[in-house]
Amino acid sequence: MTKAVARGVELLVLLLAAGLLVWVLWRAGKSPGTQGGGLGIQAADAPLCLPNQGEVDMRFGFSSAWQRAQIPQAARFDPPLGTDHGGLTYNAQQFWEMNEARGGRHLGDDLNGIGGMNTDLGDPVLAIADGLVIYAGDPSPGWGNVVVLAHHAPDGRVLQSMCAHLDRIEVVPGALVARGMRLGTVGTAHGNYPAHLHFEMRAGDEVVIGGGYALQPLNRLDPSATVAALHHASPADRAPSILARMLLLTSAAGAPAPRRD
Ligand SMILES: [Zn+2]
Repeated sequence: MTKAVARGVELLVLLLAAGLLVWVLWRAGKSPGTQGGGLGIQAADAPLCLPNQGEVDMRFGFSSAWQRAQIPQAARFDPPLGTDHGGLTYNAQQFWEMNEARGGRHLGDDLNGIGGMNTDLGDPVLAIADGLVIYAGDPSPGWGNVVVLAHHAPDGRVLQSMCAHLDRIEVVPGALVARGMRLGTVGTAHGNYPAHLHFEMRAGDEVVIGGGYALQPLNRLDPSATVAALHHASPADRAPSILARMLLLTSAAGAPAPRRD
């Protein structure tokens, strides 16, 4: 065998070995149950139900019976930002609006402080109703910090409220929160967007973060309409004195006050 042929065979063997390695790594990444580094196990520090990264393992995609039993009954639902009627905010991108750049319809509301851009950065994001924290984490750069609460609605449904792009998270998975309590603050998803709150309402107890756009509504509900239907406040109470609200906010500056009925 000439020297050139020997080198050729050597090169071929190396190429085959590299190909085999790539194939093994690819298979490991595709195997069911693989997540968070391809170990095939639930990472110990993963938030409730979900891995920190990687594909969702559907065995962990639903709340356990124990978690479901802890979801509190919620009598009233309020918007997560602004006053308890949603005052001092506007909706920059409504639910189900088509977004050509993202290739789908918006699955939530993009709530902003009325000052626009980053003037609402750091504003408190509040629990819309009594609930159980079923997710609190940072699933991807596009989402930033996310909190998901589960609620038992008065009509018996299990609903979830999702607050995304948060600057800070102030609750932990498994915590019970009361309506009006702080969940965190309005953020930019690590600088990806001008500060706003991506707010979703979901039906059922399937805990999958998913994407913010789709061509099917999946289990998403119209957030504003859902909250308005469960608000249970008298129509006359829906026109709050903005001055009264601002005075209340000013007096409570630095000391988060629970909402008042
Ligand atoms: Zn959004």
